[in-house]
Amino acid sequence: MTDPLEQNYSRLSDEIRQAAEKAGRSPNSVRLLAVSKKVPSERLRILWGLGHRLFGENRVQEARVKIPEMPPGGEWHFIGGLQTNKAKEAVEWFDVVESVDRIELAEELQKRSEAAGKCLKVLIEVNVGGEAAKHGAKPEEAGALLAAINGMSRLEVRGLMAIPPFREDPAEARPFFRKLREIREGLEQSSGAGLPELSMGMSHDFAVAITEGATLVRIGTALFGPRSG
Ligand SMILES: *Cc1c(COP(=O)(O)O)cnc(C)c1O
Repeated sequence: MTDPLEQNYSRLSDEIRQAAEKAGRSPNSVRLLAVSKKVPSERLRILWGLGHRLFGENRVQEARVKIPEMPPGGEWHFIGGLQTNKAKEAVEWFDVVESVDRIELAEELQKRSEAAGKCLKVLIEVNVGGEAAKHGAKPEEAGALLAAINGMSRLEVRGLMAIPPFREDPAEARPFFRKLREIREGLEQSSGAGLPELSMGMSHDFAVAITEGATLVRIGTALFGPRSG
């Protein structure tokens, strides 16, 4: 019997491809980030065996145990709120930090990347819903943050990330995805630099996010099943 994870992976890959085609986009322009938080490495190795290499974790404490249990050569994205005192370890374990939302954090990542002799790719997380409880730079602060990071030799800004407010009906999340895309367009014009990545869309709304330009969809539950705890 095939593992449900294999079936989910194949179904989601199809759905991502179809959503891209429906939006007139190349299927290769959207990548599935497997959000593997709380999922043990034995499960991740099943995906690895299918050729999947792109994983997202939201806690440094968990990643430092799990990433060494996996074969080398994966691409690991940090997608959680990052405390400044965890920046050193984040640089050690991750290829991309998607959740850079303040200058002090960027400065610490720059310092730690320099010390480690590395370059770190980052996304700027934007709080598109204006929710007080969520991380993310305010839309009006994103330009200053981008300019600051563009002056940091060890950080390369690849694009933007957002976690919009949850909506039961995924269609209602569309304005938030569109907003992130429009912020991207504004920043590309003002900075003159490309921001190719838009990380937006999760298990229940990724198809809508793809029609608004998502290049990374972060999927946990629809792939691995419900998380315990
Ligand atoms: C957990 C998480 C996801 C995945 O959520 P699902 O609804 O399980 O797909 C995506 N993005 C972030 C930042 C997360 O923390």
